Order: sequence, then structure tokens, then C-alpha cells
Amino acid sequence: MQILDTIPELKKLSQTWHREGLRVALVPTMGFFHSGHLSLMRHASTLADKVIVSRFVNPTQFGPNEDLASYPRNEEQDIVLATEAGVDALFQPTPDIMYRPDHATWVDVAELSGLLCGATRPIHFRGVCTVVLKLLHLAAPDVAVFGEKDWQQLTIIRHMVRDLDLDVCIEGHPIVREADGLALSSRNAYLTAEERAQAPGIREAIIKMVERVRNGERNAEALLDALRNDLARLVPLGQPDYLSLVHPDTLQPLSHLENDALVAVAVKLGKARLIDNQRLLPLPQLS
Ligand code: AMP
Repeated sequence: MQILDTIPELKKLSQTWHREGLRVALVPTMGFFHSGHLSLMRHASTLADKVIVSRFVNPTQFGPNEDLASYPRNEEQDIVLATEAGVDALFQPTPDIMYRPDHATWVDVAELSGLLCGATRPIHFRGVCTVVLKLLHLAAPDVAVFGEKDWQQLTIIRHMVRDLDLDVCIEGHPIVREADGLALSSRNAYLTAEERAQAPGIREAIIKMVERVRNGERNAEALLDALRNDLARLVPLGQPDYLSLVHPDTLQPLSHLENDALVAVAVKLGKARLIDNQRLLPLPQLS
């Protein structure tokens, strides 16, 4: 696996591969790899001849009181894991490489960026879109892979790519979970033993919601009340940031479920803010 620390190295490698007629995939990440990341990387290698992974803890997507300084990092282990996953190149810039001191250009997918996570993280998606657009420009991939765990992020990036007519295919990848149902996340490292024991309750409560929908409940308020009660019982240490029933593409809240619906939740549990989501309609097959 090639390690790339600078923008010219990345551009040159991508140009060389394209000149050779090879198809290139990009997997943007913030590192501290877990099986979710590795699954994205393996999926990317089925879509392209060469896989580039970027590892960059992007400062502009963190608010002033968020966890930028404490965000978990393990550079040596990331290199081992990405190599094992068959990644061809790891791009690992430092913030000063990605942002000049007088950086002034921002990409803002308005409307969508203020909903759900954006309500409490007002600059988050502006930072995400700006860095993802730069990475797409620099790596010039044919396809870029993003996890459905960050459903809002995936939706916003699809919107940005469509609005700006970017020549890249955006591929979503299903959520990878621990055996007990907890969605894998680098931030799970923040959980204490007691919090970790309660965390799978988020998935459990969502599965109960799927069952209610399967049994015919379509009223959003009734479904959200039941979810709130289930979470209070199953994750008593958790504090919901939002619990929302939305249209999966527009992210607009639903009052009544009809054809397409997604439940999205964010729960503060100790130092971690955990997010999860589940398609409710069309009714999912749960394993
Ligand atoms: P992050 O390093 O947390 O920014 O995540 C990098 C990419 O991995 C994003 O596209 C995430 O949506 C994706 N990802 C993170 N956790 C998971 C997971 N448990 N399952 C699937 N994809 C994930």
C-alpha cells in the first residue's frame, strides 16, 4: 500500500492510474479503522481496480465544543488494517495541507444541512461537504463509497454531486454492527463499560419500531412516543438528541408513513454521541 502525504502525490497517482485505463475508488474516512471502514474498503475493491482511502480528521466539521482534540487515532494500526483490506493507497494529509491559513471557500448544501444532526451541529455538514468535494477533486475517483450509518451525510453528498454535476458515482454501503446490534463507530471507544452495555438498546428500540410498522402502525407521533419510551427503558443513561421519522431522500419529517420512511436517531451516551438509522418503508428484511 502506498502512503501519500501530499496533494501532488495523490493527484499524480490518480492521473497515472487513469492513464493506464484503471478504474479508481475513493473511501473517505477519519481513521481509527473498525470493521465498518474495512467493509467499505473491501466493497470499494469490488467496484474499481484501485482503491484510495483518505484518512483525515477534518477540523472544519467539528464545532468549537466538540471532540476534535480527543478524536481517537491509531495511525500504525490503520496502516496494517488498510493493507490487509487490499487498499492500494492511503492519503493522510495534515490540516495545513488541506486548508491554507486563509481558506475561505465553503460548500453548503443548505436545507438538508440544518436538519437532524445539523440542528445541533450547525457547521458540521459544511465542513464535510467542503472536504469531500476537495477529496473528490484531488483523487478524481470513478466511484466513492460512503456508509449508510451516516445516512444524512450520504444524502447530502449525493445532493452535492448532483447539484455540481460531478462525474463520480456515489455508492452507499450498509451499516456494519457488533454482534449485539450496536453500529460500529470510532466514537464507541468513548463508552464506559456501563454505557457500552446499554448502547445496543438503541438498535433494540429501533427494531421494536420496525415491528410496530410491520403490525400496521403508520402514525409518526405514536411511533416516536413508543421509541422514546423504549429508549428510556433500554438506554436509561442515554439522552436523545433527536428521534426522527423522515423521508429517506428529502430528510423531511413525516407525520404519517406511506411509501418511504426512515427512522434516524442520535443519542448522547456519556462522552459519545451515537447515531443510528433504519429504513422502515418499504419494510426491511432484518437479519
Ligand atoms: P468516519 O471515519 O467515521 O468518518 O467514517 C468513514 C466512512 O465509514 C463514512 O462513510 C461512514 O459512514 C462509514 N462508516 C462508519 N461506521 C460505519 C459502520 N458501522 N457501517 C458502515 N459504514 C460505516
